[in-house]
Amino acid sequence: RKNIEYISTGVKSLDDLLEGGIEVGSLTELIGEFGAGKTQLCHQLSVIVQLPKEKGGLGARALYIDTEGTFRPERIIQIARARGLEPEKALENIIYARAYNSDHQMLLVDEAKKYIEKNNIRLIVVDSLINHFRSEYPGRENLASRQQKLNRHISQLHKLASLYNLAVVVTNQVMAAPDVFFGNPLRPAGGNIMAHGFTYRIWLRKAKEGKRIARIIDSPKHAEKEAAFAISEDGVTD
Ligand code: ADP
Ligand code: MG
Repeated sequence: RKNIEYISTGVKSLDDLLEGGIEVGSLTELIGEFGAGKTQLCHQLSVIVQLPKEKGGLGARALYIDTEGTFRPERIIQIARARGLEPEKALENIIYARAYNSDHQMLLVDEAKKYIEKNNIRLIVVDSLINHFRSEYPGRENLASRQQKLNRHISQLHKLASLYNLAVVVTNQVMAAPDVFFGNPLRPAGGNIMAHGFTYRIWLRKAKEGKRIARIIDSPKHAEKEAAFAISEDGVTD
């Protein structure tokens, strides 16, 4: 485990859960229902990656691929302020791209190669990874082609993560499961392709009084632990 770099989540309980934070060189999947905090955490990581190492960042930039139109510059400004960064600079250090369909999403990832190094990008966010794929390939009859394409997309991301030594963080929805998955009647979308595609899978859920709970699932190195966090004006917090 020597020489592995991490991006702090900015939340002590989550960093402890992840034994350091979001691992560079790997793919991390944030799973959860609507409102669980996936997009908030993506915003926060896009700010924290910019901080110097001693403050949990990598002194680097983020590429934010938004497939749902939920990126909010004003939220970046709030989080940056809370972390002592100059808000406008923090916003400039996030390269934003809206993906309009799954082909476009894959093209954006492909094109990223041309400017990752030049722009010192060490974090790629895809929020969410799967929604275009699900809506463009509905039903059982399209499942095989959807999964094949999704697999290609995940491979693209793996290549960038290892080639450029950067962290990839994607979000994924949950859907109703016919059986019970980890004690939950919901399961992450995308089936085995997603389950095997990501090194780390973090399930976020809402709890009482606005609290949130994160749980690591399917991890090769982490116990199935949980951690509590909150979301405030300042971003994601303990
Ligand atoms: P999703 O998992 O669907 O991406 P989000 O990350 O968008 O969920 O989380 C949305 C939730 O984050 C809101 O329901 C709200 O509880 C919380 N939130 C967003 N902005 C703020 C804020 N400025 N202050 C407090 N809570 C916020
Ligand atoms: Mg979201």
